[in-house]
Amino acid sequence: MSTNKPVHAEQTLYPVIDNCLQVGGIPLTRLAQRVGSTPFYAYDRALIDARVRHLRSHLPAELELHFSIKANPMPALVSHVARLVDGLDVASGGELKVALDSGMAPERISFAGPGKGDAELAQAVAAGAWVHAESEREIRALARIGDQLGIAPRLVLRINPDFELKGSGMRMGGGAKQFGIDAEDAPRLMGLATELGLQVGGFHIFSGSQSLKAEAIVEAQAQTVELALRLADHARSPLQMLNIGGGFGIPYFPGEAPLDIAPIGARLADSLPRVKAALPGVQVAVEMGRYLVGEAGVYVARVVDRKVSRGQVFLVTDGGLHHHLAASGNFGQVIRKNYPVAIGNRVDGPKEAVSVVGPLCTPLDLLAERMELPQADVGDLVVVFQSGAYGRTASPAAFLSHPDVVEVLV
Ligand SMILES: *Cc1c(COP(=O)(O)O)cnc(C)c1O
Repeated sequence: MSTNKPVHAEQTLYPVIDNCLQVGGIPLTRLAQRVGSTPFYAYDRALIDARVRHLRSHLPAELELHFSIKANPMPALVSHVARLVDGLDVASGGELKVALDSGMAPERISFAGPGKGDAELAQAVAAGAWVHAESEREIRALARIGDQLGIAPRLVLRINPDFELKGSGMRMGGGAKQFGIDAEDAPRLMGLATELGLQVGGFHIFSGSQSLKAEAIVEAQAQTVELALRLADHARSPLQMLNIGGGFGIPYFPGEAPLDIAPIGARLADSLPRVKAALPGVQVAVEMGRYLVGEAGVYVARVVDRKVSRGQVFLVTDGGLHHHLAASGNFGQVIRKNYPVAIGNRVDGPKEAVSVVGPLCTPLDLLAERMELPQADVGDLVVVFQSGAYGRTASPAAFLSHPDVVEVLV
């Protein structure tokens, strides 16, 4: 008997056959055998491909698509994504190495992030990657390092805009911020860069993350374009790069609807010709992390104990917040909500309310709180969806000294 129906209303990506979830076309029980141990993350390359196709079908062809690899720096995944996108954005010297190893051309790699060290800056200049300067100190260091190496640095100014992406999950622009150069200070620093012998190649304006509202993204992009055109008046040489940020979110919690890309694409199709006319030769890029890979990944842990405490059922698993801080609710959630969770080898069947916990000695180690799930026992596989971004590398793996989690790209 074969069924094929979604596990959750918002979760239609992973088919169910014979009561077992399929990841990358492989039944989860077989995938767990193949991986050889639990817990693990599995990333489905066909879902990543489909996501990029979906984006490209709605966004203007001349708009570049960049992947922010901090969302998921697994080398095999980055190499896969590198073949689908136009650029990689990195935030450390370590990520720069992963990006270079992926085969992406160095001039298609951008390095942003506050507090870049001299060694990291030298690594980026030597590689020929773009450096997104976040402060006056970084501009001065870049000029010095360029002189020392005899290489002209590729410099973009990361701008802290005077607005923010409304309703965004994590605010990273507007007001006082550690990110970027305040927009009003940018003209002065463009002058300084010129005095130091550097060319300002463009701007990077990022106003927020994790938005599910197309109108909010459209509005932020319009403000971004206006700001970039205003700043371009102060440029001493033609601009080559304009990164207008991202902010494309994915639904994590009940009641959240997927982001509608069509209106964003339509508005960009209107505004891009104006940008290209005002700034001939400029490449305009959007950058995103979770939107490209977040829904293409699951975290899988095995039930190792089933306990009833004062009437409440606890499924204790071999995975938890040390591998998946975000699903535990401790990565920027204000009010804890459950990520979508399933029993991967027992999708249908009589349900009961359970809490799924990890093996750590803290009540924060919670993967699902009082959720209606099919009755499960020791040996069953708990699946956490929406786990392709900010998973393994955004979690405190050393806490309680359990083994590291395995990652597979299927
Ligand atoms: C982290 C980050 C991103 C990616 O954010 P997502 O919400 O994963 O798309 C994009 N741009 C910058 C500057 C970032 O720091």
